[in-house]
Amino acid sequence: MLDYHMHSTFSEDGTMTMEEACWQAVKVGLKEIAITDHMDIDLPENIYAFQIKDMYGYMKEISKVKEQFKGLLKVKAGIELGLQDWTLDQCAALTVNFPLDFVIASIHNVNGEDPYFRVYFNSRDKEKSYTDYYETILQLIEEYDDFNVLGHLDYFRRYSPYGYGPEDRWIGKDLVEAILKVLVRKGKGMELNTSGFAHSSRQPHPHPDILKWFRELGGEIVTIGSDAHSVEEVGYENKRALEWLKYAGFDYVTSFTDMKPEFIKI
Ligand SMILES: [Zn+2]
Ligand SMILES: [Zn+2]
Repeated sequence: MLDYHMHSTFSEDGTMTMEEACWQAVKVGLKEIAITDHMDIDLPENIYAFQIKDMYGYMKEISKVKEQFKGLLKVKAGIELGLQDWTLDQCAALTVNFPLDFVIASIHNVNGEDPYFRVYFNSRDKEKSYTDYYETILQLIEEYDDFNVLGHLDYFRRYSPYGYGPEDRWIGKDLVEAILKVLVRKGKGMELNTSGFAHSSRQPHPHPDILKWFRELGGEIVTIGSDAHSVEEVGYENKRALEWLKYAGFDYVTSFTDMKPEFIKI
């Protein structure tokens, strides 16, 4: 039982301390977690500054809980790295300068527009709301290498006013295929982000059929993440996630140490 995506108070939208996250992880029976606070460098104007302000303090706090929970819970030092094409050098420097175990590459912006805000959808019909986002992912993961898994493939879906129909996972299919192929070629993984299940679509990010496709194309690395921002979300739908992974053809889940994968049988 692993949860490889969660935010502490080092994220402006996180409401739990790392210690509280760890206690909750123990309580719900997790064996290992990665703390992955937001690192979106140079975000366009937003309601939050999604960036760890004190990276040294962040690493120090993770070391502290790592030590404190020894024997009870493995704690890994991660970040959720928000990619934008003009910040990729700064992003890469982070993994050189800090001893991170795990990096999620996430896209929270399309040309400076965050799908969290309605304006993203005002200028796009349903199809374009998918394809513009996927095109941005494709361009960024082609260019950028210093990450382990791609975060929430269809993040925009959380906020979409268009709903989520039974066939919508196939919108922008060619682009999704291209994204999956880049990940396979580069030896990178996908994230099964269970937070999507809490939204009206009742499907994780991405839909398990997309993970199945990733597996068929030769994808091997997959992590499970709740994207918890508060204590009650830690380990959210973790058991169901293991079933989704099995459905997708994975008989293991991945953990990371020093950015290197290890495969754990499920
Ligand atoms: Zn995210
Ligand atoms: Zn997140």
